[in-house]
Amino acid sequence: MNNLSPTRPTFAFDNSFSRSLEGCYVECNAAPAEAPKLLQLNHALAEELGLDPVVLNTDAGTSIFSGNVAPDGAAPLAQAYAGHQFGGFSPQLGDGRALLLGEVIDVHGKRRDIQLKGSGRTPFSRGGDGKSALGPVLREYLIGEAMHALGVPTTRALAAVSTGETVQRETPLPGGILTRVAASHMRVGSLQFFAARGDEEKVRQLADYAIARHHPDAADAENPYLAFLEAVTEAQAALVAKWMSIGFIHGVMNTDNITISGETIDYGPCAFMDSYAPDTVFSSIDTQGRYAYGNQPDILGWNLARLAETLIPLIDPDKDGAIEILTDVINTIPARYDAYWTAAMRRKIGLTTEQAADGELIGGLLTAMHQGGADFTLVFRHLATALRGNAIPVQGQFTELSAINAWLENWRARLSGEDVEAEARADAMDRINPIYIPRNHKVEEALTAAVEHEDMSPFEALLAAVSHPFDVIAGQENYAEPGAQTILPYQTFCGT
Ligand code: AMP
Ligand code: MG
Repeated sequence: MNNLSPTRPTFAFDNSFSRSLEGCYVECNAAPAEAPKLLQLNHALAEELGLDPVVLNTDAGTSIFSGNVAPDGAAPLAQAYAGHQFGGFSPQLGDGRALLLGEVIDVHGKRRDIQLKGSGRTPFSRGGDGKSALGPVLREYLIGEAMHALGVPTTRALAAVSTGETVQRETPLPGGILTRVAASHMRVGSLQFFAARGDEEKVRQLADYAIARHHPDAADAENPYLAFLEAVTEAQAALVAKWMSIGFIHGVMNTDNITISGETIDYGPCAFMDSYAPDTVFSSIDTQGRYAYGNQPDILGWNLARLAETLIPLIDPDKDGAIEILTDVINTIPARYDAYWTAAMRRKIGLTTEQAADGELIGGLLTAMHQGGADFTLVFRHLATALRGNAIPVQGQFTELSAINAWLENWRARLSGEDVEAEARADAMDRINPIYIPRNHKVEEALTAAVEHEDMSPFEALLAAVSHPFDVIAGQENYAEPGAQTILPYQTFCGT
């Protein structure tokens, strides 16, 4: 390759996973990409990672992001993990199409994984080709960055390349590779892999590593592994409450997609709900609605119970005793989740104080939204407009007005008991209730242009809008509205 770049990109790798956890991964190199093109580079994230975006935005950067050149200090590896997929256990999944290049310490002192996703076969690929299609790569880039801007813990996207190759799915598709950045890629399934093999020592090593990296306070607890479960539970309960508060449906909450860090991972068939309906499902493979919007809090508990099972031998040699104390933690999940959810929803409707009846008030709004087919995002956004004196935009979201009018009256009565200026309250609400989310029709439009017409401009315009989800920008009105109602429900596909 004709490489005229001034400097080689340098990554200050410090690869603790490969150093500390031998036997939990397989070393592996990326497959070469034929004619890679750098389609997207996240300059702000590069700088946060201590990388030079100017140097990355060259042929040398493209070579790295396409897997053609391993940067100095990288120790590429595929991690082992298992997982419950739609409730059924697969003892061996693992990185079948991803490679951890290594870890860097970012400018805030935080350790971050840098991973290629779609870089070719690994020992965990089973029948798969180890590749990704470009559409899902760009989809993960876009939605992950939107989630970050919405304040949701998430893996990030550093770069997206097209490989110049075709990957065979139901139809031949252009290939792509995502460079993903994560607090780590450890999942519930990472511990399940070794627990399923009865390898208690490896489970302990992974738990110790995870405690040190993600939940260091647990190390000082009387029972560190119980405290570890509690810490993961807190992080995941907070995460799922955030998803619920913005109408996000992950779509594939398998235990291999549930991180130990509490970041959202794996933007496959995910989507944001338009009209509020708890049974909303977008994923074409989720035929039973296991991962429907309204089921996500229950699935959170189910998944953490699977993590708890892996810890049984570390908790107490008396198995029944261990199960009892782990179960006590699992039983706290609904209350922990509810606390996060109620706090988030209070803020969304502008409350600054807590009252026992607030849960009922919030529930009343949701019922009215469900019955009235109201758009989840716009209702909350327009409540602030109602506070500023114009209730028409919020009323306009409902097909039937009596329920929302009665609710608005109750809400105003509740607000009048707080000593807060309407304008200040409305401003605070505008900082947490987004106006721009990645609307399904806009995502499809952006991906179609990029994949079928090699036109990245709709993608870039949408990325710009969702990267500042709270700031109204003139000319961006069409990013705020849901797509036209179609007869067929919107479907997302896993085909990555
Ligand atoms: P995901 O649906 O992304 O959570 O992936 C589930 C499992 O399937 C993981 O072990 C992946 O590595 C594996 N997998 C998905 N797609 C491929 C592929 N194209 N080639 C090899 N393995 C894959
Ligand atoms: Mg996955």
